[in-house]
Parts: sequence; structure tokens; C-alpha cells
Amino acid sequence: MVATENQTTELIPRSLYSEEHVQFGEAVEQFIQLEITPNNAEWEKNHMVSRESWTKLGQQGFLAMQVPEEYGGLGINDFRFNMMFIEKLGHSGCAGPAVGYPLHSDIVLPYILHYGNEKTKQKYLPKMVLGEYIGAIALTEPGAGSDLQGMRTSAIDKGDYYLVNGSKTFITNGYLSDVVVVAAKTNPQLGAKGISMLVIDKDMKGFSKGKPFDKIGLHAQDTCELFFDNVEVPKENLLGQEGSGFGYMMTELAQERLVVAQSAVSLSEAYLKSTIEYVKERMAFGKKIAEFQNTRYKLAELATEIAMGRVFMDRCVELHNEGKCDAATASMAKYKLTDLQCKVADECVQLHGGYGYMWEYLVGRGYADARVQRIYAGTNEIMKELISRKILK
Ligand SMILES: Cc1cc2nc3c(=O)[nH]c(=O)nc-3n(C[C@H](O)[C@H](O)[C@H](O)COP(=O)(O)OP(=O)(O)OC[C@H]3O[C@@H](n4cnc5c(N)ncnc54)[C@H](O)[C@@H]3O)c2cc1C
Repeated sequence: MVATENQTTELIPRSLYSEEHVQFGEAVEQFIQLEITPNNAEWEKNHMVSRESWTKLGQQGFLAMQVPEEYGGLGINDFRFNMMFIEKLGHSGCAGPAVGYPLHSDIVLPYILHYGNEKTKQKYLPKMVLGEYIGAIALTEPGAGSDLQGMRTSAIDKGDYYLVNGSKTFITNGYLSDVVVVAAKTNPQLGAKGISMLVIDKDMKGFSKGKPFDKIGLHAQDTCELFFDNVEVPKENLLGQEGSGFGYMMTELAQERLVVAQSAVSLSEAYLKSTIEYVKERMAFGKKIAEFQNTRYKLAELATEIAMGRVFMDRCVELHNEGKCDAATASMAKYKLTDLQCKVADECVQLHGGYGYMWEYLVGRGYADARVQRIYAGTNEIMKELISRKILK
């Protein structure tokens, strides 16, 4: 195991990554510098990353690394590689890509890998590995977000197929998506036990998409609505057992929360790093901003909190790799590190003065990008519910 430099927390040597992970991280960093950072401003204007970026990532082997070789993947069952990928995206400060690519590999794809039948896996996994098919997951509806049991999208058994009707909203990667894992009620009379997961394909008749939303941040992310109007979904596209969808979500959501937590702490490191550089240059009252005691103490406070967050995050990744990171622990990481990201972004804007409010500056964008991290993947209030359930039982 080697200690790796991680920008602002190098005072705490890390033991999470081996030499192999570090080398992989360097390759990711090079890719980001060539293919992502130079394009991010244009992608922000377009409200989406380019399709080409997906296939380039696929060609490099950076997508869905855990997929077994028989389905075209690398068969790497070590989540530290996936986490290194997210860490490097976070350090680039490109928040849209830092959300969309990992959602495909680490949040959507596991449903197909873990619960898809052989035909579904053969059909979708190789294309998802290559970035030819972009994945999205559709749980939230206009009338049901935190309370997923209240969803109304229905999938009614019609013999050979399910007839799907309803709509989903706020779907990450939605506009570009080719394959969507959709939660729907196969038994509308039941609550959680009536929910099933289905794979819906861009080519299915009756499936349509809204335009990307005009969000306050994450501008390079194509979040949109999805509509299902009498979509005939073949029975073979059911994931796992009918009525077991809610259980699958509960199982898979722990990893989703770790993914969000990892992007949060990595982006926090990027905001702090760029602020340290800024205050060492900017002058006021004949001094560098960095010389004011307030600046020094603020930076010390943020560096301390980020370092503590990073240690907790690394430990969660180790536990997850051993199959031991439970829902409450992942919720702690998601809640605390996304709260921290918002705090760091806010303090860093303040230390930049007026420049911090400009989109051109990383911390200005970060201030807007960070806010949603406390809302999606389960709001932080729902995270506290899950944590309290464990500690009070
Ligand atoms: C940019 C973006 C991307 C997203 N991507 C996806 C995606 O890819 N797929 C997807 O399915 N969804 C996605 N979402 C949706 C997201 O997961 C939901 O917005 C979130 O779960 C909250 O649901 P809601 O918006 O309906 O809020 P509500 O559930 O209406 O919550 C409103 C408020 O009430 C609080 N609240 C609700 N219930 C409780 C409770 N029991 N106890 C205490 N407080 C409570 C909430 O914490 C929140 O503060 C995305 C959202 C955004 C904004």
C-alpha cells in the first residue's frame, strides 16, 4: 500500500490505494486534462456532455470496470478503481461529468448486472461498457421522491409484456439515455411490495423524453423528465423477481450514496485547493489575503474537516470492498460529506470576494453545483432517518 497525495490532506497519509490504483488514477487524470476539462464550459452551455466523451471513456476502459469479461468488461471487482475515477473527476472540478459518468457505471449498471437475466445482460452490458449505450435510473416522479412507495407509474402484466404508463422526473443522464432502469408498480394496490424494476430501451414505442432542465447548477448534466405512454416492455426486461424492486433499491442505494459522498469530498478538496492558490496571490491592504488571520483560520478549519471526511470516506470504501458497508454507514458518509461540500463551497466563495460569485471561477460554479448533492440519492433528512433507525434499534 502506498500513501497518495490528495491535494489538501497530504498531512494524513492514505493507505486505501496501491501502486496500481495510483497509476490508474494518473491515466484518468491525463484523460480528464485532454478530453473533459477543455470541453466542460461548452458542455455547460449545451446542458449535457458530448456523446463522443462517453465512447472515448469506454474505449479507455474507464466505464463499468466491474463487468465480467464475458460481457465485454474488465472484470475488476475492486471498488477502489471506481472510487479513484470519481476522485479524479472531483479534483478536476467538472461537477457535471463527475455525476453523470459514475451514475452510469456504479449506480445504473449494477441493477442489470445483479438482477438482469442472461439475455438482458448480453444485450446491454457490452454496449454500456463501451459507452455506446448511456444508462439512467428512473425512480423519482413528480408526486413521489423521498416517498418512493407512493409512485404511480404502472407496469401491468399483459401476458407477454408489461404495459407501462406514467412519468419520471429529475432523471440524471435522462436526455442522452439509451437504457433506463425504471421502478414501476406491477401491483398498484400494494405499497413497497408492488414495486418492480424494468429495463426500458430508447427504441421502445411510447417512451419519450423532455428537454434538459434549466438547473441552478450541474449545467453539464442532462437532467430531464421521462414519459411512458402505453410502452410495451417485454417480460424478459423485468429485473429479478416481480414485486422485489423496493428490496433491490434498498440493497443498491448504499453504493449510490458512497458514490455521491466520494464526489462530495473530492470536489471539496478541489475548491479548497483553488482557494489556497487564490489567497496566496490576491492582495488587500498591502498584504496577501492569505496573511489575514481570518483567512488562515478559515482554511485551517476547512482543511481539518475535509481531512476527517476523507479518512471516513476511505474507510467506507474499504468496508464496501469487503461487503461490510451497511446502509446507515453509507448514509453517514453521504449526509456529512455533502453538507461539508456546501460549507466548503460557501466559505471558499467568501474568501474569493466578488470573484467567487463569477461562473468563471471554480468556487462560483462549485457553490451552485454542490447544493443538489444534499437532495438527490435520498435527501440528507432521509439519510438521518436511516442512521437513526440503526442507532435506536
Ligand atoms: C439534479 C437532480 C438529479 C436527480 N437525479 C435523479 C435520478 O437520476 N433518478 C431519480 O430517480 N431521481 C433523481 N433525482 C430526484 C431526487 O432523488 C429527489 O429530488 C429526492 O429524492 C427528493 O425527492 P423530492 O424532490 O420529491 O422531494 P420531497 O420528497 O418532496 O422532499 C421535500 C422535503 O421534505 C423532506 N422530507 C420528505 N420526507 C421526509 C421524511 N420522512 N422525514 C423528514 N423529511 C422529509 C425532504 O428531505 C425535503 O427536504 C434528482 C434530483 C435532482 C434535483
